[in-house]
Amino acid sequence: MKQLNVVILLSVAICAISHAQSAVSKKALDIQNSSIVVDTHADTPQRFLDENFDIGSTDPNDKGHISLDKAKAGNLGAEFFSIWVDPETNQGHFAHHTLDLIDTVYEQAARHPDRMMMAFSVADIERAHHEHKLAALMGIEGGHSIENDVRLLRDYYRLGVRYMTLSWSNTNEFADSSGDINDPKIEHHNGLTDHGKEIVLEMNRLGMLVDISHVADKTFWDAIATTKAPVIASHSSARALTNHPRNMTDDMLRAVAKNGGVVQVNFYSGFIDENYRKASEAQAKDRDAAVKAYDAEMKAAGKPINYLDHDRIDREWMAKLPRPPLSSLIDHIDHIAKVAGIDHVGLGSDFDGVSGQTPQGIDSAADLPKITQSLLDRGYSAEDIRKILGANVLRVFAEAERVSRELQAGKPDNGHAK
Ligand SMILES: [Zn+2]
Repeated sequence: MKQLNVVILLSVAICAISHAQSAVSKKALDIQNSSIVVDTHADTPQRFLDENFDIGSTDPNDKGHISLDKAKAGNLGAEFFSIWVDPETNQGHFAHHTLDLIDTVYEQAARHPDRMMMAFSVADIERAHHEHKLAALMGIEGGHSIENDVRLLRDYYRLGVRYMTLSWSNTNEFADSSGDINDPKIEHHNGLTDHGKEIVLEMNRLGMLVDISHVADKTFWDAIATTKAPVIASHSSARALTNHPRNMTDDMLRAVAKNGGVVQVNFYSGFIDENYRKASEAQAKDRDAAVKAYDAEMKAAGKPINYLDHDRIDREWMAKLPRPPLSSLIDHIDHIAKVAGIDHVGLGSDFDGVSGQTPQGIDSAADLPKITQSLLDRGYSAEDIRKILGANVLRVFAEAERVSRELQAGKPDNGHAK
């Protein structure tokens, strides 16, 4: 009798736990926990630098998307930490700020050697998976970080950077951006300049993934025509569903499939839900005015402005908008899987870079199994889900490594862009 009571109590407890995980089935958890889950974009280094955030944080009130505990709970195996240099607040020292951010990722890994390791290759990601550690990779977000100097690009590669978005929201010396393509005050290049094409080829030679998120449409087509290796969109969604210039048209999705690359779906509510995008756009004027007023206040007080101040104001405004359902995010994954093919879609969350604006139910990396559950609910097989969770981007990364070896073997001395 006593034993039976224990059994009943245990099953009540198990039911309570699974209920708290919001109906993620054992099947979904099994798929999640046996996959190498790779996310290709998180802005957490801004927090490391500006907020002195420790990735080992166990603070239950922390609103951040990424910590070692959250990664573990969602079985996140590899994260590409974004090295993003705000072009407005870092005028004149882009490279310096790039190096500061790179340092923060190494410092976090050094602080938690038992739970996290720096990773520079597919083999490193697999090793981290076997050792049950989070693989920390780095991607530069915005070509302005190289200050138009291919030597800096090579230096960043040597420091471990494994992708670079050709532009962020700002057009730089060699690539037009989707963020300012309609701004007549900005000097544009009609896509990639000749130097920009040399930079793409040098990235191919080094084995640095060419990332086409953020670029203007013409830059995308120039990059696709130039590259010798498959490209990635580290954090972009589908324009056919949500009409934002940061998202990719169906023609672009098909071009990435033909190129052998992968589109990693961005979770930001404004990129995955048309109603949210419109509500956010309607609010943008007031939100921007609040940021400008704050900047003026800081300037008058002689205080520095940093990313976190802007993020806080954005969060306050965006919190007024209703969050879209998780199904909006799944719709984008589904659309890209249908248009580009199941081998060309993955996850590029933009965690810690979207002022908390992710769909309902996705509050941190711990919630990633809910995506697996939703895909199961839509009839995706375990094998297809594994591709989306990480196998696709690992295939692309391995192919970029292979192309690099081939280019370096074929051209020992020449082929170096100047
Ligand atoms: Zn971005």
